[in-house]
Amino acid sequence: MQPYACDPRHSRGRRYAQAAALTRNEFQRDRDRIIHCTAFRRLVYKTQVFLNHEGDLFRTRLTHSLEVAQLGRSISRELGLNEDLVEAIALAHDLGHTPFGHAGQEALNDCLRAAHPPDAGFEHNLQSLRVVDVLEERYPSFDGLNLCFETREGVLKHCSRRHALQLEAREPGGVAARFLDGTQPSLEAQLCNLADEIAYNAHDIDDGVRSGLLTLEQLDDVEMFAACHAEARAAYPQLDGRRLLFEIIRRMIGRQVDDLIACTGEAIRAAAPPSVDAVRASPPLVRFSAPMAARCLHLKQFLRANLYRHPQVVETTDRARRVLADLFAIYSGDETTLPPAVVALPKRHRAIADYIAGMTDRFALREHERLTGETLFP
Ligand code: MG
Repeated sequence: MQPYACDPRHSRGRRYAQAAALTRNEFQRDRDRIIHCTAFRRLVYKTQVFLNHEGDLFRTRLTHSLEVAQLGRSISRELGLNEDLVEAIALAHDLGHTPFGHAGQEALNDCLRAAHPPDAGFEHNLQSLRVVDVLEERYPSFDGLNLCFETREGVLKHCSRRHALQLEAREPGGVAARFLDGTQPSLEAQLCNLADEIAYNAHDIDDGVRSGLLTLEQLDDVEMFAACHAEARAAYPQLDGRRLLFEIIRRMIGRQVDDLIACTGEAIRAAAPPSVDAVRASPPLVRFSAPMAARCLHLKQFLRANLYRHPQVVETTDRARRVLADLFAIYSGDETTLPPAVVALPKRHRAIADYIAGMTDRFALREHERLTGETLFP
């Protein structure tokens, strides 16, 4: 065990004390709790970029999370980090996503902010923490999954200062403190952020081409894609279609992973942090080389301009936005439309947002149809 890796025997602990398990360490236990929770199963039916009903082969939040866990684990092993913790964070990192991806989050955020009295808005990283801390109902004596500090620290990937102050008031020196004092999370958490990026940059190319919204010719504008495309063609001159695309994507992932391992390994050796707290006090150590970071940024910008803002994607996400806005308005205006368990909760607007955020794409569509009689996605 490297001194800079999180050690489950020295975890900062759980919010509610629990006896150690006989056969699993604390991070394995967290991973198992996440896999068995309800929010995790809902990820199967939640949009990554393409809506669930648009095709069976597109990524969903679940398959995306599995890909992040795979990348995270194999990089973690090379770097001597804690693989179990990486896996737990990766599997939990998107639990707070609304149906319909980012469009859903924006819609819910607008609704909450417009609600009177104005609420604190909606943000999926905070919601992921809320799912594992509060919303899962699986244990007799506490709410949430009661995960270790290190797992929760990784789940709360971003946090505004305002939200950090709110969290800090409830949990002094807790998982939000680093957004106030400018420190870093564990290397395992830092790694999950980059594994997330490698995963979505790669699978969104695959899904983009599969959907017909992106072409290889267009993608050749991206330096890393063009280089791997040329390499794949040189190695396999006859190759075309899906196998060619997979070969290009495989090479792109390989380059990023190799770069990340080399550059991070070097940064860790140079900083030689003697403990996880020394990691937290250092600048970010898990990183790409500067040229690779620039290539990844370019790829991201390409995907934003050509896929996420493609008129066909925007048209679908606009409809999805309407579904969530309508649901919020109807639930807020007439409590008889809500399940009694939601009506019974304090903070009505927040309870409605939690209820909507927990929905799968298709449940949200069914609810919308039930309450408005409209079919937005025939
Ligand atoms: Mg993600």
